[in-house]
Parts: sequence; structure tokens; C-alpha cells
Amino acid sequence: MKTTIDLFTYSCVGCGKCIRVCPKDVLKLIDNGKIRFINVAHAEACNGCKNCEEVCRRHAIRIINECA
Ligand code: SF4
Ligand code: SF4
Repeated sequence: MKTTIDLFTYSCVGCGKCIRVCPKDVLKLIDNGKIRFINVAHAEACNGCKNCEEVCRRHAIRIINECA
């Protein structure tokens, strides 16, 4: 299975909920002191569980699982 992680950074408020529910430590919070937003640190570790997508009230993450 191939998993694609789409981030809609403009919708992200940097709450960090998606990081806390990710079992694979895929996501990383960027904080430059002025703005906070999510980024992908370890895409290859993603198992496609969609925990992050389901917890994000801003719909800032979309996980697409495709059969290879
Ligand atoms: S992607 Fe969603 S859950 Fe994750 S930090 Fe941004 S707003 Fe919060
Ligand atoms: S789909 Fe699961 S493993 Fe992949 S980034 Fe989201 S929470 Fe982490």
C-alpha cells in the first residue's frame, strides 16, 4: 500500500493534536516563535492509520491510501 500525506498548512493552527495521536512519530511541529504549523518529518514511517486526519478539526491533513 502506498500512503500519501497531504498537508494544508494554511489551515493548520499548530495545536499538535495530530502529533500526539501518531503512533509512528511521522509528524513534526514547526515553531518559529511567530507561527506554528505541522510538517512531515518521517513520511516513510507512516502506516496510513488516519489517526491524524481524524483528530484534526481544521481538516489540515489528508491521508490517501492506494493499493500498489
Ligand atoms: S494539522 Fe490539525 S491537528 Fe495537526 S497541528 Fe495542525 S491543526 Fe492541529
Ligand atoms: S496516518 Fe497514522 S502513522 Fe501516518 S501520519 Fe497519520 S497518524 Fe501518523
